Amino acid sequence: MESFYSPNFNSTKRSKNSIKIIIIHYTGMQSERESIIRLCNPKSKVSSHFLISQNGKVYRLVQDSQIAWHAGKSCWGKYKNLNKSSIGIELVNKGHQFGYTNFRKKQLLSLTKICKNLIKKYKIKKKNIVGHSDIAPLRKIDPGEKFPWENLAKENIGIWHDYKLNLLKKFRKIKISTKQERTKFVRNLNDIGYCCSIKKKSLFIKTVKAFQRRFRRELINGLPDKECLIIAENLSKKAIKNP
Ligand SMILES: [Zn+2]
Repeated sequence: MESFYSPNFNSTKRSKNSIKIIIIHYTGMQSERESIIRLCNPKSKVSSHFLISQNGKVYRLVQDSQIAWHAGKSCWGKYKNLNKSSIGIELVNKGHQFGYTNFRKKQLLSLTKICKNLIKKYKIKKKNIVGHSDIAPLRKIDPGEKFPWENLAKENIGIWHDYKLNLLKKFRKIKISTKQERTKFVRNLNDIGYCCSIKKKSLFIKTVKAFQRRFRRELINGLPDKECLIIAENLSKKAIKNP
């Protein structure tokens, strides 16, 4: 691991037990070099604790005890403005704007190692390992639909549902028609951690998109189908079991 110094963090330190969440990002920039420069430039006012190159090289930019500036205005479960309660990990990827590519094996291997360490050190719950889009759906779409949440969940990093593809296929593209179903879906999203209500329509649509980007990647349109519904219900049960 190589260290660079980013000055983009709060002046006061935080305690170990205030760290509850891991937030995964992509850099969305042309190159690794450009990303490091930006994350360490005092003018950019953004940073993260770690940056992982496509080859799996890990850079430490900000110490865990410092509040790095990566989440912005955000919400997850009972937590708001998550910089203070989270660790930010940036993955080098050009992102949707400059040519979104699959995350490489070596990069994901390093990410897995870092996450396992953090989970152990700070007792981070599975449901609190999230993507930037999960916590700020109005503004962010990273790490995006190519990020392999299902594989990470097999390593006990983040949540995933229990259903096999064959079963899910039956529910694919069946529209949700009743108000009851919609209300239940929102309740399930809230249980998982998503901060949305049915009353704020644009937030609801973008939150559904964030959910789909992560758990229902073939359909990213903001309109939940029955497959979304049963996945959300399964995940909400898991979240409730592990509050
Ligand atoms: Zn981000």
